[in-house]
This record gives sequence, C-alpha cells and structure tokens, in this order.
Amino acid sequence: MTTTTVMQKVNPQSSTKACRFCGSTLEQTFVDLGMSPLCESYPSAAELNQGEIYYPLHVYVCETCWLVQLEEYESAEAIFRDYAYFSSHSDSWLKHCEAYCGRMAERFGLGTNSFVVEVASNDGYLLQYFVRKGVPVLGIEPAANVAKVAVEKGVPTLTRFFGTQLARDMAAKGQCADLVAGNNVLAQVPDLNDFVEGLNVLLKPDGVLTLEFPHLLKLIELNEFDTIYHEHFSYFSLLSVFRILEAHDLRVFDVEELKSHGGSLRVFCCRKESGRANVQSNVQKVLAEERQAGLATIGGYRNFAQKAEQTKLGFLEFLLRAKRERKSVVGYGAPGKSATLLHYCGVGKDMIEYTVDRSPYKQGRFLPGTHIPIFHPDRILETKPDYVVILPWNLKDEIIKQLHFVRQWGGRFVVPVPELMVD
Ligand SMILES: [Zn+2]
Repeated sequence: MTTTTVMQKVNPQSSTKACRFCGSTLEQTFVDLGMSPLCESYPSAAELNQGEIYYPLHVYVCETCWLVQLEEYESAEAIFRDYAYFSSHSDSWLKHCEAYCGRMAERFGLGTNSFVVEVASNDGYLLQYFVRKGVPVLGIEPAANVAKVAVEKGVPTLTRFFGTQLARDMAAKGQCADLVAGNNVLAQVPDLNDFVEGLNVLLKPDGVLTLEFPHLLKLIELNEFDTIYHEHFSYFSLLSVFRILEAHDLRVFDVEELKSHGGSLRVFCCRKESGRANVQSNVQKVLAEERQAGLATIGGYRNFAQKAEQTKLGFLEFLLRAKRERKSVVGYGAPGKSATLLHYCGVGKDMIEYTVDRSPYKQGRFLPGTHIPIFHPDRILETKPDYVVILPWNLKDEIIKQLHFVRQWGGRFVVPVPELMVD
C-alpha cells in the first residue's frame, strides 16, 4: 500500500464514503442500527425540553482492508469535551489495570528511570499504579473535566488531543516513552493514520506500544451489536489492525485475548527496526482464527445484522409480556451501549421505568433520547422491582453479586445481549 493511499482524507461533503484507513470506497453494510443520539450525553432535568440530535448508526465494512467503521457524524471535540465516562467506577476494570501495570513493569523492566505515557488516560485509573511503583508517567487526556481528576490524584496529565503533531512536540522535548499504552482509544480516533503515526513517533527506539480494543471477532460471535455507538468510529480485527500498524512501520510481536469489554485484544508492538522480541506464536494463532471465521472475506460479515434483529425481537417479547402482566421493570447501569440497545429496540421509559448507576455524575440525569431517569442504586431497594435489566451485560456477574438482595422479594435479573436471559 502506498503512503498516498494511506494518508488520503475523507471529504465530509462527499456523498461517496471512503475508508478511514485505506481510502477505498465503502459499499458493504455490516449492520444498520437506525438512528440514535450521542450515547455519552446525559441530559439534566433542565435540558429535557431541548431537542436532541440523532445520527445514523450505519456501519460499513471496507472490502480492501476489512476495517469495520462508522462515518464520523460529530466532531471529536464535541463528543469528548465534557466526557461523562470515568474509568475508575468499575472494580473489575481497576483490577485488570493494576495487573497490567505489574506485568508490564516485570516483562519490560520498567523502573524509576523509565517513562510511561498513556494516550486517553482518562481519570488516571491506569497510570496511578505505575505512579505507586515510582515509574515516571504522563497521561494525555482531551476531556478537561476527567483530566482534572487525574491530576488531583497525582497523575501528571496533558489536556490535549493526541496526534502526530503532539508526538513530535513531545519527542522534541525528550519525552519519548519506554511504554506507550492506548486502552480503548483506537476506536475513538477519527484520523486513524495521524494517530498511529504519532504513536510511532512517541516511542523510544526500543519502546513498546500496547493497544487494547474490543475484538471484532468477539463482537460478531457474541452478537454484541450494542457496543456499536457514535463514539466508536472503528471496530478492529487483528487482521485490520495488523495492516494499519504495518503501514506506520510498527511490528506486532505479541497479542493477548482478554475478557474485558465482551472480549478484547491487547496487541504488543514495536518499531520495525527495533531489535526487540521475536514474534510470538499467538499472533499467527489469532490471525488464523479470524480467517477461519471468514473475516478475510465478505462472507464473515454478512449474517451479523440478522442476529442483532433476533436479539431485538427476544427483548421486546419479554418487555411486552412483563408489561401485560403488570410487572415492574427497571434497569441497572447507564453505560454508553444502553443508548444503542434501547434505540435500536425502540424501548423507552414506558417499558423501563428508571435505571440506576454508581457514577455520581450520571445520578439525577437521564439516558440520552429515551429520557429514562438515572438514580442512585439504593432506589432498587426502595422500589423492589420484579425485573432488573442489566444494561452493562459485560459486568453481569459482578452486578448480580452486588444486587443479591433483589432475590429476597423474588426479583429476577434480565440480560438482553447476546440473547435474552432471565435469571
Ligand atoms: Zn479500508
């Protein structure tokens, strides 16, 4: 692939859609989930009588590089200026991050003379564990409200969007890194080529880059259509990410399959010219699994839309039956993915009375579009509902354990994805 193709920009005024990475024309639909508002904009009571903008959730797959992608409908600045997602509100996620820091420090010998940078460092949820080990760090986080929390907990943080320009500025100041971490950020990057090029620039010659992202193979296999939302522009297989990194002179030398976010990959890479590490057999193993599942042909992408529709029918049948039987149904959690699920299924507050969330930011606010109110989790104990729909289904085991008291009044748990489960 030539550099000119790689760097081709999408013209937002153009009616033909071009792949965010390789510039090929996008003609194949992966799934069309209809219209939905931005999933991380939770209106306050005062904002309820204002209009909300809905954008299409129409996902395409590029037949040249197999990148699954949405068009960018809203500028990244508008989405991330006052982002509501604070990473530190999930116990299992924090444990995952602490384990990552321990393992990286050991494997790559990171200590007081090293330098670790995290791109999209959120509230310092990850870097805090390196700080505790005495490893110098810098977070880069564009959302000012979230970055402020990180600084308050002792994680130095730069409030900027990351790209090649910022990486060059940092390199000029001698701020290249031994380890660069990017957790769940790649999907949110509108200009993929500028971002990945920046990651290369930011590495020391033998530095290591780790990227974590939800695995497209799992999204397809486990029918996780609700993890598709406007804030995630791209959905990656190892096949597609491998090609993108290669185009920016980065070599994948290891990959781990993780349980987080419904099944993720952690990809390890270094500069092509780096003397570091032989390529581990896992890389070929995952690539082979993806080929086996048909992800290197259009056939592997064709049945997804039908599976999503089956889930919608199952969820609606349950809600209608509960309504007819005059049972009370509430939600647990207000994750971004609930907006996709509820809009795609056409479910509003006539079906789900309210939801609760541990994040103080979301309490007292409303889910986007549906305006289902969000309360403190104690509300469940006060109203004793018949059914609790777990919206962040990836945390269902943790949540069912936390809410064991619901069983005392005969309440039951409902998990709508991958297919309806009433427990
Ligand atoms: Zn492409």
